[in-house]
Amino acid sequence: MIESKFGRRDSRGNYKPYKRVGYPPIFIWPVQPLAAVKWIMSIPGYFLPWNTLYVSIGLIAWFFLSPPLESYANPSIKLTLLIFLRNSFLVTLYFGAFHYRLYIKRAQNTEYKFNLRWPSKNSKQFMFNNQNIDNIILTFFSGVTTWTAFELGILWVAANNFIEVISIDQNIFYFISMIFLIHFWRDLHFYVIHRLIHFQPLYSIAHRIHHKNTNPGPWSGLAMHPIEHLFYFSCVLAYLIFPFHPAFVIITLVHAGLSPAPGHAGFDRINFRNGKSFDADSYAHYLHHKYFECNYADGILPLDQWFGTLHDGSKEAHERLRKRLKEKSRLKIKNR
Ligand SMILES: [Zn+2]
Ligand SMILES: [Zn+2]
Repeated sequence: MIESKFGRRDSRGNYKPYKRVGYPPIFIWPVQPLAAVKWIMSIPGYFLPWNTLYVSIGLIAWFFLSPPLESYANPSIKLTLLIFLRNSFLVTLYFGAFHYRLYIKRAQNTEYKFNLRWPSKNSKQFMFNNQNIDNIILTFFSGVTTWTAFELGILWVAANNFIEVISIDQNIFYFISMIFLIHFWRDLHFYVIHRLIHFQPLYSIAHRIHHKNTNPGPWSGLAMHPIEHLFYFSCVLAYLIFPFHPAFVIITLVHAGLSPAPGHAGFDRINFRNGKSFDADSYAHYLHHKYFECNYADGILPLDQWFGTLHDGSKEAHERLRKRLKEKSRLKIKNR
């Protein structure tokens, strides 16, 4: 197996990459301007592949797969249905592609798969005892519905001139800058809401549902309680306070709606047909699903490092996590 080039299996068969969870050289001290520019321009880097992919899908969705902004002034049932179907189509295609290749066709079997087990088909935790069915139901009924509601709501505000819409011609620099800042904003927003929903009672009521996926697959990505979906897609509310273009909303929602698929792939690397493979960028978040109390952020901002919750996959990081949890439960008992 080529997987031994990138990692190894422990005695239980769990795959551990040799690489450590780390951050690009942009927010680290001392500053490394040359390394930062190199990273921004390289593949993988800031733009390619993921950021550019979501920006492109978002631009296509707004300019070619959306009705004009005026239609959002009085949303009809037909418009609501159209937007729901467009978003469902994107989710089906994107999540479905990862799921089909890795879990139905099993194109690389368990190569680079963190956990050797396949999604559960007989656990009482899940609807119909089936992890994938449970996840798919939550994704569409709650996830895509909430995504669609946020889109309709904010574009309703814009279409009724409650906020001013900018023209691209007169604000081209601003337009492009905002689009490429979306990734940073989503990282920051996700970290803040993720920390928040790990507190009680939000955890027990809502986030617990996402964490049923201790062995995640692509469909685990958007499998959340409706309350968590409200928090999660609220990233788009930022545009109510910035000079606004509808494409910002669509790109941000596409980024939030689609990026969880590779992030929960359950595989460290995904093979191409030619035998080469690419990093699915899912290790940090896989560790969060496995150990819960670490790696709340999932991106390029070193927030976990700053706040002492980073698990980089090493033995030392695991020891630090163990100590932190021990201290937490000691304090809990003391405060009872
Ligand atoms: Zn997750
Ligand atoms: Zn969590």
